[in-house]
Amino acid sequence: MADKNFVIFGPPGAGKGTQAAKLVELIDVPHISTGDMFRYHIKNNTGLGKTAKEYSNQGKLVPDEVTIAMVRERLSQDDVKAGFLLDGFPRSVPQAEALDTILGDLGISLTAVINIAVSDDEIRERLAKRADKEGRADDADPAVIQNRIDTYKNQSEPCLAYYRPSGAVKDIDGIGSIDEVFERITNALGN
Ligand code: AMP
Repeated sequence: MADKNFVIFGPPGAGKGTQAAKLVELIDVPHISTGDMFRYHIKNNTGLGKTAKEYSNQGKLVPDEVTIAMVRERLSQDDVKAGFLLDGFPRSVPQAEALDTILGDLGISLTAVINIAVSDDEIRERLAKRADKEGRADDADPAVIQNRIDTYKNQSEPCLAYYRPSGAVKDIDGIGSIDEVFERITNALGN
């Protein structure tokens, strides 16, 4: 595979994080998860963490300018020259536009947007299960879960329409075992 500049995309509970962890092991690029970055800041009670907590606890997106600045800084680091897997970014059309600008400045382009598709009912079931298992604050409350689904539909899903004309989107059926879904991803990437 030549370039390895990937985005993994999908609704909350689609299994993005799980698949991303497997994929970075295979292709050996940094895993850049904005959710993990925010959780790190929240845990360490940084200024950024305080802002992030306010929004993520309600199932809302952290404001674009904050998120974009954080990603811009991360993508300026040397280790992403070998490629990267962005997980949880972009999540709005302004973020997708900003990513194009950031990558344009770096002289690189996206290799593929891996879109993991699962139905709304399946999402609800999975988020409820994850709340039990991992105790994530933003998975525990049904109203917060609904907010996260609505946020995905209203703000994040339009990113797919933004990317489709470029042909970069690889649609992956997200229903099945972890290994089945992973095999679909590696097949789609031609690995
Ligand atoms: P995740 O683990 O990717 O589901 O992210 C957890 C939470 O972090 C989300 O519900 C948002 O509040 C926030 N977050 C993560 N990525 C982004 C992003 N690209 N833009 C805005 N907020 C984000």
